Amino acid sequence: MVKILTYFIAIFLLIGCKNEEESSSETVKITEKAQKTEENFGIVIHGGAGTILKENMSDSLEAAYKSKLKEAISAGYEILKNGGTSLDAVTHTINIMEDSPLFNSGKGAVFTHDGTNELDASIMDGATLNAGAVAGVKHIKNPIDLARDVMQKSEHVMLYGAGAEEFAQILGYKMMDTSYFYSQNRYESLHRVLEKEKEKGENQVSFNDPFIKNSKFGTVGCAALDKQGNLAAGTSTGGMTNKRWNRIGDAPIIGAGTYANNATCAVSSTGWGEFFIRSVVAYDISALMEYKGMTLQEAASEVIQKKVPALGGDGGIVAIDKDGNVAMEFNTAGMYRATMNSEGKLIIKIYKE
Ligand code: ASP
Repeated sequence: MVKILTYFIAIFLLIGCKNEEESSSETVKITEKAQKTEENFGIVIHGGAGTILKENMSDSLEAAYKSKLKEAISAGYEILKNGGTSLDAVTHTINIMEDSPLFNSGKGAVFTHDGTNELDASIMDGATLNAGAVAGVKHIKNPIDLARDVMQKSEHVMLYGAGAEEFAQILGYKMMDTSYFYSQNRYESLHRVLEKEKEKGENQVSFNDPFIKNSKFGTVGCAALDKQGNLAAGTSTGGMTNKRWNRIGDAPIIGAGTYANNATCAVSSTGWGEFFIRSVVAYDISALMEYKGMTLQEAASEVIQKKVPALGGDGGIVAIDKDGNVAMEFNTAGMYRATMNSEGKLIIKIYKE
C-alpha cells in the first residue's frame, strides 16, 4: 500500500514539475516576444536618389525637403508606436509625400514626352506576401492607396491605365483633373529635355543624359516593421522625365521596386528603373538574406554597390529587416532619406556622408 502511495505521489510530482517547466518556458517565450515587438518596430523612407548635390541646393529648399521628410516619417512612426500596422504606416507616410510637390509622385510628378503625368505605385505585405500595384494612372491623387486596394479588394496584383482607373471609380475614388499634378519646375525640366531633343534629334536623348538624370528625382518609398513583427514596403512615382510609349519603370514591379517578406526584410527602390527591373533589386536583397544568410546591410550593398552599377544603372534603396535593422544604400550623389527607430531616434539625410 505504502509502495503504491509513494508511486502515485512520485507521478503526481513529476506531472507537476513538467507543467511548471512548460509554463515557465511559455512565459519566457511570451516575454521574448513582448520584448522583441516592443523594441523592434521601425520605419525608413526615401524621397528619391540622384545627382543631388549640396552646391545645387538652396538652404530654403533643403529645409523644405527635410521638414517634409520629417512630417512624413513622424506620421508613420506614430501609427507604429500606437500599435498600428506596417501597411497603414507605409500607406500614410507615402500619402504625405505624394501630396507634396517636392517629390516625383502624386502632385509634382515628372512629365512624359507628351506633357502628361503617368503614375506608378506598388505595395507589399510581408506577412502574407500579398501585393498590389498600379501603373500609368493619370487621375489618381494617391496611387499608393489604389495599389493597396488592388491588393486587398481585387483578385489581381497589377492593374494598368484606364482599367486601373475604372477599378478606382467602382471603389468611389475621385478622378482628379490632370492639372492637379502640374508643377512648374517639372514642366520646365521636360521642356529642357525637349529642347535638347530638337538639337540632337528625335529619341536621341538617353535617360542617361544629365538633363534627364538631374530632373527625375523624387520617387518616394517607405519600409516599416510594426509591433506585431509584420513588415511592409511601398513605392510611388511619376517615373522618369520624357518617358514615352507608356514606359513603366521599376516602382510598380513587385520584386524590383518593392518587396516585403516577414522572413527577411522590406525594401523600396529608387533609381534608373530599367536597371532595377533587370537586377530584380528588392527581391534580390531579400533572397541574399534568405539563401546566403547575409545581413540586410551586406545584401543591400552587394546589390546597390556591385550588381546595379555593373549593368550601368544607378539609384538606391531603403529597407528594414525583421529585427528592425535599417539600410539606406545608394550609389548616386545623394538620396533623400530618413529613418526612425522604436525609441523615436530620427535620422534625416540628403547627401553622402
Ligand atoms: N525608379 C523610378 C523609375 O524608373 C524613377 C526614380 O526612382 O527616380 O520610374
